[in-house]
Amino acid sequence: MIIPLLKGLATTLKHCFSKPITLQYPEVKRPVYPRFRGHPELVINDDGSRRCVACTLCKVVCPSKAIKVIEPAEGEHHEKYPVQFIIDLTRCIFCGFCQEACPKGAIKLNNLYELAQYDKSILVYDINKLTQETSQIRMPDWL
Ligand code: SF4
Ligand code: SF4
Repeated sequence: MIIPLLKGLATTLKHCFSKPITLQYPEVKRPVYPRFRGHPELVINDDGSRRCVACTLCKVVCPSKAIKVIEPAEGEHHEKYPVQFIIDLTRCIFCGFCQEACPKGAIKLNNLYELAQYDKSILVYDINKLTQETSQIRMPDWL
């Protein structure tokens, strides 16, 4: 009778001093693996310009037609850049084909995974929301 009781007590005590396996989410976020595929975002250069040259290759390869609009413009030295870039994240399947197809390394899947929203229209990202710097600080609206 007393032996099982002591065994149970020992197990309880052992777990009292072991490292917890749960996290205080959402205050503490679980780190993701390096190969995790979050949502696509546009990469910016050191000078703050976008790396994208509006070639539309990513749009062509996207299997779920999530990349809706890539509107190109031309600079004074005939360099092309996008003035609008829209991805519907409700259609995106996070396959990474856009990242693989891009000849400039201008679109990358980030490590953000908090995309739940009450309103689906919030998940249609324009060029500003897709730009790397701003997307890193984006949080779901309901937090
Ligand atoms: S990750 Fe896949 S589905 Fe999403 S935009 Fe890129 S190619 Fe399209
Ligand atoms: S993100 Fe890459 S593949 Fe897509 S339009 Fe820009 S340069 Fe082309």
